[in-house]
Amino acid sequence: MKLTILGCSGGIGSGRHTTCLKVDDDVLIDAGTGITTLDFEQLLAIDHVFLTHAHLDHTLGLPLLLDSVGDLRATPLTVHALPEVLAVLSTHLFNWHLWPDFREIPSAESPWLRFAPLDFGEALTLKGRTFRPLPVNHVVPACGVHLATTAGSLVFSGDTTHSDAFVAALNAIPDLCHLIIDTSFENALVDIAQASKHHWPDSLAAELQALSVRPELWITHLKPGNEAAIMNELRAAAPNWGLEALMQGQVIEL
Ligand SMILES: [Zn+2]
Ligand SMILES: [Zn+2]
Repeated sequence: MKLTILGCSGGIGSGRHTTCLKVDDDVLIDAGTGITTLDFEQLLAIDHVFLTHAHLDHTLGLPLLLDSVGDLRATPLTVHALPEVLAVLSTHLFNWHLWPDFREIPSAESPWLRFAPLDFGEALTLKGRTFRPLPVNHVVPACGVHLATTAGSLVFSGDTTHSDAFVAALNAIPDLCHLIIDTSFENALVDIAQASKHHWPDSLAAELQALSVRPELWITHLKPGNEAAIMNELRAAAPNWGLEALMQGQVIEL
């Protein structure tokens, strides 16, 4: 399994892209602006999109992806997400007002887009890669993703702040090799981090103390312009962990 980081920033500017991770050639986890780094053939190869939540920085590429390659697809693009997330997309995005409902284009019998609810406790296996939603704690319905292969496991938190349930889920994955986890703001912006339910360095450091597994740690969703400050505070707060900022263009293999 090859995970390519197309976008992992908390915002845009100077080449930064928002969250979009590519699993091998055919699956995306989230569809933020990182999707725009793919060329046309690569866009056409995407058959499945797993969404952690409906926020625009994780979904805005999806309607444009369908508009670009929908007519060339032989089968519908399938979007996997929590039922609550799919309901938001139905009501607020693919609603014929903000964007056409590609679940009915060119016909309801043979559409370009298909929704596939994936709830907690369920798992989806695609060509030997198993995707499982994990509980997290964000301002809207959201999940992390446990990506399991025969070579080991990787977890992507999506957007989250402190969550006992997430920690418990991580501790139940003995073969956890990589953990990609949100830390969006520096400590001085704790009020914004709490209001928007993201981690800040001190909250992540406290979370790590409860971990009984020892994955490689990659920090994501860093606020643009504050990346170095956040990473410095994190390393000071959690000196026993080898913390690295996740980088756009990075590839993680399992
Ligand atoms: Zn969010
Ligand atoms: Zn986000």
